[in-house]
Order: sequence, then structure tokens, then C-alpha cells
Amino acid sequence: MGTHKIAVIPGDGIGAEVIESGVKVLETLASRDTSLDFHFERFNWGSARFLDTGQMMPDDALQTLKSFDVIYFGSAGDPRVPDHISLWQLRLAICQGLDQYANYRPARLLRGLTSPLRDVTPEDVDWIIVRENSEGEYSGAGGRVHTGLPLEVATEVSIFTRTGAERIQRFAFDLAGKRPRKKLTLVTKSNAQRHGMVLWDEVFEEIRGDYPAIQTDRVLVDAMAARFVTDPASIDVVVASNLHADILSDLAAALSGSLGLAPTANLNPEREFPSMFEPIHGSAFDIVGRGIANPLGAIWSASLMLDHLGEAQAAAQIMSAIEKVAADGTALPRDLGGQASTADVTEAVCAVL
Ligand code: NAD
Ligand code: MN
Repeated sequence: MGTHKIAVIPGDGIGAEVIESGVKVLETLASRDTSLDFHFERFNWGSARFLDTGQMMPDDALQTLKSFDVIYFGSAGDPRVPDHISLWQLRLAICQGLDQYANYRPARLLRGLTSPLRDVTPEDVDWIIVRENSEGEYSGAGGRVHTGLPLEVATEVSIFTRTGAERIQRFAFDLAGKRPRKKLTLVTKSNAQRHGMVLWDEVFEEIRGDYPAIQTDRVLVDAMAARFVTDPASIDVVVASNLHADILSDLAAALSGSLGLAPTANLNPEREFPSMFEPIHGSAFDIVGRGIANPLGAIWSASLMLDHLGEAQAAAQIMSAIEKVAADGTALPRDLGGQASTADVTEAVCAVL
């Protein structure tokens, strides 16, 4: 398949720790398979750079990234920088700027791991959350007026476009069609959010006739949070807005074992721009620098990245190595109930490969 050009942005906190694990796994794979070739280029964008220069990444960052096939990302967030600056100047700037509107978030209970849910099997906990990743509640629209005065006002304006709703919902329908159960749940909050979320419902009703093989339902987000706990087996693919899916996917990750396990792909499905792969977790200030972060979410994300690059077999090899480490149970990180360090877990995955 030629050489894959990968922009590596380790970023902040444990993001940087787990991304090195993922790179090591990819290098191990390439060293054993002569048809696989990666060119990694690292970018030291993040909070340290912000503290030096006032910018998380340079002005021409998006231009630079456009010359890569994919982006492999750690996390944005550091206790010394306000979160809304670190996140917006780095991760959200990339997602919006490269129109990575489809955020793909699988959550599976791997055999050998324990869910906080009682009596569930890996068949019950096998979900994909599709998150609208370019607008909605995280559009960045709004502002502050009368700053610092008692009459200060802040607006946080959600932007829901018909194009945005339709393209993400069609993405989710197509995805559901490739899954054995072919179920898609639309999650909104159209009883209370009576403009944008109603538009989402209407678009769903308009397009679902195009997908006769897909079984659909509609659930409000608060009820959906409960359903993840009370009836996990009823869930297959879920599509929701930027905020709602953000929250539901941390819940889904925790129910599948740990936030440290969950991967994500920020996709530009039309491939006009590179897509970005990252664990769903953040910088984890409470465990940073201790070498105990779970690297499996980052490693799983590397598997999603290989799939996107057309390397299905290599992607499957990483996934089955993760599954073997989970099933074996001797090299589990602390968040999954074991004692293994980040390096031990990485080593165990590489050893299987
Ligand atoms: P977080 O995901 O960093 O941490 C939440 C909890 O989960 C913590 O207790 C942490 O120790 C644990 N955890 C997360 N990943 C883990 C792993 N791999 N192994 C073991 N435990 C893990 O969320 P937060 O605390 O809300 O955010 C911290 C910072 O990260 C903030 O600055 C936030 O803005 C940023 N953040 C960035 C991204 C991103 O760039 N994609 C995503 C989420 C949060
Ligand atoms: Mn999140």
C-alpha cells in the first residue's frame, strides 16, 4: 500500500504517554510485515508550546496537516492553561478546520474484562456511538458582553444545520447497515431543545425511508443514559449531537470497562482532508507522569487508523492482540483491575504481535 504518512501530535498529559505506546505497536507491526511502511512525523504542539509562544499550534498547522494521510493525536489539556483555550486551539481547531464531522466511537466489553453492569456479556455491550463533530453545542458561536460587570451576559449558541444533521445521520445509517443487528437509535432532546433538535428529528424522518434494512428508534438523551444501564443489549448504533454523544460515550466507555480503553476516529468521510485518531479520554491530570495510564484506547485508535488507511488485516491484528491481552488478564492496567504499567501493557500487546 506504499508508505503511510502519519502526523503524530502527542499533546498534553497522559495523551503523550499513550501515543508513544501506539507508535511502538505500529512500529512493531511494520517490523514484522514488510508490506507495511509508516512515516511518522511528530509535532510538539500543545500546552508547553502555548506557555512559550501563546499558541497551542502554529498559524499554518492545518496547512501542514493536509499533507499527511492521517493524524494520530493524544490529548489537549494542562492544569496551567484554561481548558477552553487548550481544547479549542488544538483539538477542536483541527476537527473543525479539517471538517472531521463524523466522530466514530465504538465501545465493547472485551472478553476477560469486567463491566460495572451486573450480568452483561460481550454480546450485550457492543455499541457504536456516532457523534456529530463539527457544530451543534460545540460550534464555538456566542460571546460575552459587559465582561466583569454585575450585568455580564454570556451566550453559548448551538448551531444545527440541515446539512450537518443529514450528513452525520446518513453516515450512521450506512454504518448500521454494515453491522449484523442493523439497528440505529436517534438520540436528541427535542422536547426541551425545540429548534435544532426538532430539525434533527425531521431530517431523520425524511431520510430513514432510504434505508429500509435498518431498524430505527428515537430516544431522548436523558432516557438514553438510563437505557445504557438498564437495557444495554437493545443498543447497537447511536447517532447524537456533539454534546449529547460526548457525554454518552464516556458513559459507554465506563460501562465497557474503563474510559482508558475507548478509541475514537474523527473522520472526514469524503477524504478531502486527513482524519484524526485518538483515545476518547483526556490528559488525566490525576495520574500524569506516573507511567500507569492505560494505553489500550490509544492502541485501539491505531487499529481504527489502519482500517481507514486500507490496512484491514493489520488493523485486525492489533485488535486481536488487544483482545488477547484482555482475555489473558495478566497484563491489565490499574483502571481495568490489574497492576501493569503503561509500558507493561504495551509490551504485552507487542509480544502478541
Ligand atoms: P480525563 O479523560 O482526562 O480523565 C477522567 C478520569 O479518567 C480521570 O480520573 C483519569 O485518571 C481517568 N482516565 C482517563 N484516561 C485514562 C487512562 N488512559 N488510563 C487510566 N485512567 C484514565 O477527563 P478530564 O479529567 O475531564 O479532563 C482532563 C483534561 O483533559 C482537561 O484539560 C480536558 O479539557 C482535557 N480533555 C481533552 C480531551 C481531548 O483532547 N480529546 C478529551 C477529554 C478531556
Ligand atoms: Mn469527551
